[in-house]
Amino acid sequence: MADWEVVIGLETHAQLATRSKMFSGASTAFGAEPNRQACAVDVALPGVLPVANREAVACAIRFGLAVGAEIAPRSVFARKNYFYPDLPKGYQISQYELPVVSGGSVSFVFGSGGDAGTHSVRLTRAHLEEDAGKSVHEGFAERSGIDLNRAGTPLLEIVTEPDMRSAAEAVAYARALHALVVWLGICDGNMQEGSFRCDANVSVRRPGGPLGTRCEIKNLNSFRFLERAILFEVQRQTEIIEDGGRIVQETRLYDPDRDETRSMRSKEDAHDYRYFPDPDLPDLVISPDWIESERAAMPELPSAMRERLCGEYGLTPYDAATLTATPDIARYFDAALACLPERAARAKTLANWVMADLSAAVNRSEGSFTDASVGPGLLAALVTRVADDTLSGRAARDLFAGFWDENAPHETFETALARLDARIEERGLRQISDDGELLGIVESVIAANPKPVAEYRGGKAKALNSLVGQVMKATGGKANPQRINALLREVAERD
Ligand code: ADP
Ligand code: MG
Repeated sequence: MADWEVVIGLETHAQLATRSKMFSGASTAFGAEPNRQACAVDVALPGVLPVANREAVACAIRFGLAVGAEIAPRSVFARKNYFYPDLPKGYQISQYELPVVSGGSVSFVFGSGGDAGTHSVRLTRAHLEEDAGKSVHEGFAERSGIDLNRAGTPLLEIVTEPDMRSAAEAVAYARALHALVVWLGICDGNMQEGSFRCDANVSVRRPGGPLGTRCEIKNLNSFRFLERAILFEVQRQTEIIEDGGRIVQETRLYDPDRDETRSMRSKEDAHDYRYFPDPDLPDLVISPDWIESERAAMPELPSAMRERLCGEYGLTPYDAATLTATPDIARYFDAALACLPERAARAKTLANWVMADLSAAVNRSEGSFTDASVGPGLLAALVTRVADDTLSGRAARDLFAGFWDENAPHETFETALARLDARIEERGLRQISDDGELLGIVESVIAANPKPVAEYRGGKAKALNSLVGQVMKATGGKANPQRINALLREVAERD
């Protein structure tokens, strides 16, 4: 089979986390009774006038700053005209020729372990617009109803250049973008409720050749569907071309039940929408002062935090990416890190705990890091006692599980450490790292096992491994395995 290069550009609609709508004062809360949150502006009664939501504009500014884009000092709201029952005005207010945000890029770690590398996807633009209402096809006895609660909800549409080369890369970008808008607090990121949805533009071409004809797959509201839809579409397009056919540019719909994309309509062109500046709205003017005050209020960005974790603490890019995947895990890690004495030396151990035991426990409990049963202070205390050899990794894990079930309130590092030390004494878990205590046990184990000792002396370096468990058992599991190893070798070589 000939080699095909996949080309993907994504258009993402992020619902902005404002209390009121893009151009009216109606509430944006999810889940209200149909049409209870649609005011005169949203249902397009004659004579009403839209007013742009300042908070939505602030969200766009913060996004633009976060991706290193240009924020237009003056942008324009435009009418995008089309007919649909859930669009009472007969047009959607969007931005066309002059969007509020232009350029910028989103960087993310792609791949895992040693193969992880940083990819960057260029953004074309991001513009403000309003959402449409919803048709409701259930509960109306063979008829359809219209719910205008969502009409007018503020959206930021974020458009990329055709920079992605695989379904996996598109998903990695979408995840990074999702993490970023949630991190910035401009979108709640709830994909089931449709707060973050992607349209995927997909084409294939010969490597290095001109861009192929693309199809656009609409409204993918999960990362899994995004990946499946692109994989299906790539397969479909390559088969058509290899059979001597041609791709028709069109808009397609992904059907998760059948795991396939289906034609929805032939692709509309911009001129079909008769875009023109909305005469009801003045130009959107953003002053340098406004931009600066948004900049000052921005949290540390995930990319900056990743650099800090790699640069100051020597974590790998993969670890740093995992620990900044959501604001939740990042805040937890930072809080625990802040507690740790000898931070630089112990950051890696802490990272492993957060990514392994803690993440597993959080997932199992279906909770979040914010309300984890073991707080950052207590985890930092555990890591401290593992690092200073008071606890074996195994004893620490058992203690962690016990504390988790107790669901203790979050406490300061000092309080947590005192509680942990008391628990260690009470359970007799203090690890034996003192050679004097271990030596006698090691000597008797060596004496009782001539065979592996002889093998070791004969050059088989791993022969003593089988004896570590015996020493451990004799100490009731409290010995430090590194010390056991060292002493076994010492004694075996001595005799
Ligand atoms: P429209 O607004 O009509 O959907 P745009 O030209 O603005 O079209 O592009 C929309 C998206 O499609 C962008 O993300 C862009 O990167 C992507 N795109 C454009 N051409 C291609 C192509 N040949 N293959 C894949 N994606 C493409
Ligand atoms: Mg489009």
